[in-house]
Amino acid sequence: MDRFARDMTSNLFGNPHSASASSQLSTARIEDIRLRVLRFFNADPAEFDLVFVANATAGIKLVADALRAAPDGFDYVYHQASHTSLVGVREEARNSLCLGDRQVEDWLSEVRPFDDGGNRPVVFAYPAQSNMDGRRYPLTWAERLRCGARKTYTLLDAAALVCSSPLDLSRADAAPDFTVVSLYKIFGFPDLGALIVRRDAEEAFTSRRYFGGGTVDMVVCLKEQWHAPKSQFLHDRLEDGTLPVHSIIALDAALDVHQHLFGSMLDVAAHTSFLSRRLHRGLRSLRHGNGEPVCVLYSPDPDSTDNRLGSGPVVAFNIRNSLGAWVSLTEVEKLATLKSFHIRTGGVCNPGGIASALGLEPWEMKQNFSSGFRCGGEADIMAGKPTGVIRASLGAMSTISDVDSFVDFVGEFYRDPSPASHRTEPVSQLHNPSRLHVHSISIYPIKSCGRFQIPAGIDWEVKPEGLAWDREWCLIHQGTGQALSQKRHPKMALIRPSLDFDRGELRVTYTGEVPAHLRREIAIPLSKNPSLFHSPTFHSRSSRVCGDEIQAQTYSSAEINSFFSDMLGVPCSLARFPAGGQGKSMRHSKAHLQKHQLSPPPPLPPAVRPLLPGSFPPSPPDSDSEKAVSRRILLSNESPILAITLPSVDALNQDIQRSKPDSKHISSAVFRANIVIAPAVPGAPLIPYAEDSWSGIRIGQQQHEFEMLGACRRCHMVCINQETAGKSEEPFVTLSKTRRFDGKVFFGVHMCYHGGKNAQEGLTREKQFPTVRVGDVVVPEWRQGE
Ligand SMILES: *Cc1c(COP(=O)(O)O)cnc(C)c1O
Repeated sequence: MDRFARDMTSNLFGNPHSASASSQLSTARIEDIRLRVLRFFNADPAEFDLVFVANATAGIKLVADALRAAPDGFDYVYHQASHTSLVGVREEARNSLCLGDRQVEDWLSEVRPFDDGGNRPVVFAYPAQSNMDGRRYPLTWAERLRCGARKTYTLLDAAALVCSSPLDLSRADAAPDFTVVSLYKIFGFPDLGALIVRRDAEEAFTSRRYFGGGTVDMVVCLKEQWHAPKSQFLHDRLEDGTLPVHSIIALDAALDVHQHLFGSMLDVAAHTSFLSRRLHRGLRSLRHGNGEPVCVLYSPDPDSTDNRLGSGPVVAFNIRNSLGAWVSLTEVEKLATLKSFHIRTGGVCNPGGIASALGLEPWEMKQNFSSGFRCGGEADIMAGKPTGVIRASLGAMSTISDVDSFVDFVGEFYRDPSPASHRTEPVSQLHNPSRLHVHSISIYPIKSCGRFQIPAGIDWEVKPEGLAWDREWCLIHQGTGQALSQKRHPKMALIRPSLDFDRGELRVTYTGEVPAHLRREIAIPLSKNPSLFHSPTFHSRSSRVCGDEIQAQTYSSAEINSFFSDMLGVPCSLARFPAGGQGKSMRHSKAHLQKHQLSPPPPLPPAVRPLLPGSFPPSPPDSDSEKAVSRRILLSNESPILAITLPSVDALNQDIQRSKPDSKHISSAVFRANIVIAPAVPGAPLIPYAEDSWSGIRIGQQQHEFEMLGACRRCHMVCINQETAGKSEEPFVTLSKTRRFDGKVFFGVHMCYHGGKNAQEGLTREKQFPTVRVGDVVVPEWRQGE
């Protein structure tokens, strides 16, 4: 800054484009500096031109703007590790593709990415070094692509690479056609970027439409419209308006001082790669007292032999506690800021790199987005996965002590030195003959439609609003806005949704009779892509679900909506009601304990008599006032999760048989429960309707805690056979004789996941992402007995 100030106070720099001495001085200095920056990258001015731009992004946009105006546009291929500013170019292209390393190699070996036979040019863009994890990509790609049959330009984003490494453009025939850099990332000041263009590729700019002051030799406006772009240098044609004269002049001082302080870029590269190896090793070797690693590193291992290209001085990582739970990125960033470390956390403007490092599928990212995740927001661990990374970058000015104190910082605040991990003790009930287990798990993705049974062996996520994907969709009558119910439209039972995560689809099959010309299956993307929905301003009428006025997102696709309307013979639209909404996009549980549940439970057979820790005062008789806590739900009627037990179903069937010996067995499916609980040993003693007296249950080895919210009130919808959609009078008639309390009929219990109460305390990986699976042990806790 001192050197720049001296330059400014001892010279008068005028606006270029005039004959005055001050103007001429500016012009001369700018041209000298242009040359100096080209030399900095070993670029021969006979082979390359350099265009000053505001930042790397502005350079990328110049290329995109010019090629978009080409007669037939351009096709765009970008590498998965691209910065957001490269990704955005796809919106200007006719076709675009995002490729990983392997696919780029396939392409280079003559596998065509676009087979539409188009003759428009292709632009291939990639980073020389990922700004997410420091991984480097081959500079030889440009040369290899140039040999292909179709005209292909290479756009190299060298913004991250050149901060700490030389970029050598000495072989013009092997160099990328367009290279963008952020000069301020190398020198800190001035705030400038550059676009370096191979002269052989200059024709890419011939179709550029806009021209600004300073870029033309002549413009005719009146009566005729004509202009002559400057012809000698490309930069003359692209630098619209007045250049940032003083910033460019400051580059002279920046180049001098950088060299004076740090030597050549080779010296900088040696220094930073030494430090980053130390940082990498330091973070990698941090272990909790129980031996588990503290950091999960995403950057390539500098010590690995297959890291031929080397990697930038960047370490991207996440932190786990000793129980495997992820530590919140925003928390780390806040603490680091307090301790004067300048790190970056989050998506770091590298969507493809983050998705592949964290294993996030597109629908998951959109899911997170619609659950309230925003770049830079507070919520950063979603569905048990981090949504971003912690990135520590090193530069020419970093020191050994910076690195060591950062590793110490992570160790001091995030390493748990205690040797034992406090994992939950395994459930001691395994040999108890009366033990219970999860007999089956079902979700109903579309409210009132058929169930999707979770296959054995699959861990299914439990959320505060209920089981993942349960009642997230509904069908809305196009006239009344009411959510359709199986009570009125029994055929809804024949609409069978299933979740296909590999394809990212909700597949829906209709199992009833279908006229030959109609299809019986449809696939709906799991992604909450806003283009699938009517925009709320056009379609702001609200709907009603179980008496609640709600705002759901209705699908705009005629194909989807007529599928459902045709199957049911009712004009309806599919709508989605994702978690995380506010106002009318949010609902609350209404379940509460019923009076009959508060009377003392029946005596228990000795084998299941629970250990009661003393006796508690009786619960207040007015149960309605009991639960002030509000729990969010999606489109289920009353509560997050509905559970039933098989012994209760068996008891009901026996009651029915007693009065009507020839009646059919009632399937447990009619109760549309999420979790069916049964004795793990068939026939073991469990009294029917024991669930009414449970205050809570724990499920699985992790003993996930669920709280019972109250009995489930029933209507005649339980009389619809869920296989055939046929109706009968049972089991409602018998239920209303045997299970009527205060004039209402009850069967099954509402419950909700109780996790997350004590937030970070002893948070395990499993508590951060609670799941249940078929066969999990169920341990009930009983409400206070006699
Ligand atoms: C910083 C960076 C950019 C964006 O640069 P700007 O100068 O902010 O436009 C693009 N790509 C990479 C790899 C970067 O590191």
